[in-house]
Amino acid sequence: MSTEYEAVIGLEIHVQLSTRTKMFCGCELSFGDDPNVHTCPVCLALPGVLPVPNAKAIEYALQIGAALGCDLSPVSTFDRKNYFYPDNPKAYQITQAATPFAVNGRLGDVRIHHAHLEEDAAKTIHTGGAGRIQGSEASLVDFNRGGTPLVEIVTEPDLRSGAQVREWGQLLRATIKQLGVSDVNMEEGSLRCDANVSIRPVGSEELGTKTEMKNMNSFRFIERGIEAEVARQKEIVASGGTVVQETLHFDPATGELHSLRSKEEAHDYRYLPEPDLVQVIPTQAMIEEAKASLPELPAARAARYEGLGVNEQAALLLSFEVDWAEYFEGVLESRDGIDPRVAANWVTGEFAAELRKQGDIPLAEAKVDPASLATLIGLVNDRKISHGAGKTVLESMVSDGADPETVVAEKGLEQISDSGELEKIVIQAIEDNPKPVEQVRSGNEKAIGALVGAVMKAAQGRADGGEVNRLLRQHLGL
Ligand SMILES: [Zn+2]
Repeated sequence: MSTEYEAVIGLEIHVQLSTRTKMFCGCELSFGDDPNVHTCPVCLALPGVLPVPNAKAIEYALQIGAALGCDLSPVSTFDRKNYFYPDNPKAYQITQAATPFAVNGRLGDVRIHHAHLEEDAAKTIHTGGAGRIQGSEASLVDFNRGGTPLVEIVTEPDLRSGAQVREWGQLLRATIKQLGVSDVNMEEGSLRCDANVSIRPVGSEELGTKTEMKNMNSFRFIERGIEAEVARQKEIVASGGTVVQETLHFDPATGELHSLRSKEEAHDYRYLPEPDLVQVIPTQAMIEEAKASLPELPAARAARYEGLGVNEQAALLLSFEVDWAEYFEGVLESRDGIDPRVAANWVTGEFAAELRKQGDIPLAEAKVDPASLATLIGLVNDRKISHGAGKTVLESMVSDGADPETVVAEKGLEQISDSGELEKIVIQAIEDNPKPVEQVRSGNEKAIGALVGAVMKAAQGRADGGEVNRLLRQHLGL
């Protein structure tokens, strides 16, 4: 019998904090400016300079720690991580190794080992053949990013699949975005994710040899990269081989994994305490403030929406983006007695789809305010118009901000409420469609669908499906 294997995945997530200035100097943080315009002797590591910690960065870090349910350390310290590379002018990075500012947290199903503060490296740009140096290949360094405050979040190896990593990553991103301490833009690198991946026989508690996947810049790619790596490791083991510890890069264009370096080439960072910085000792007031200042976070909000009857998927969609959550709550507030489950389905379903269809309109630019959408939902719910007519109305509302009741009147979409009128259409449909009538009468009840369709067509979508069904069954003697 062959052994079954499961994936064991832990994550290291780097979050750039959106402070005004860098971690240890007063240089401005900005993305996309000309290279090397935001530098000074500190972040260029000129001789004799001393770092000064950014108080705002420490405050933001404490908020992240609190949001992840961590214990906030009463004392934390900075260390030097030594490595030699052009993006690192001091030849060491200031980080927290021995005593991070936050430990032992949890977000959703995943335990957080710790979170620590550090400074980002500068950005290296490899020009290929297009270098400025006599047209040759070159590596250029942009120190604008060097010294940006980072929080690194390290999880326990609690994740079991690429899909789970994507879902959990989205929850983490939404949580940090809600705090307002980072813009968590993966494409611009303000949120970066590394994954440690290993496999082990199901039921085993031991950890297998792990490989590290670096710097993937979207959760979709991370999901695919991890799935590819798990499949690769299972294949190796199935064919009697052993997984080798190495760092891998996943190329989303080809779906291939490339080795960046093996264990033999791995760094020994020779961590040592940073002598130029004192300990970080947040006051009790700072710790209390970090906890008290937390807004309602996505996980809690999703649970609250589910408590209102909203299905899990819609609850998560609404909770991950604050503006969607606010929009949804605006719809609920606009109309007494509106069913939150129905409202959530309209907001995340028909409305979101219509915005996408009309050119990916961002919610902030949508011409439909929550009150108008609530009115439309009410028209459908009270059976003034059919669900299909509701979608037609929504199309006009999204394209030109039309008032739903006006569209209904102008387009004559009001549902046929006179049952005598509807009955006439039903009788006509039975007369005009002998074939499905015959099929229904000989026991094939599914054939009634063709008759419902004929009535709907004749009523130009202005009939209530349930009522049409009832009248058809009545007249067919079912
Ligand atoms: Zn600087």
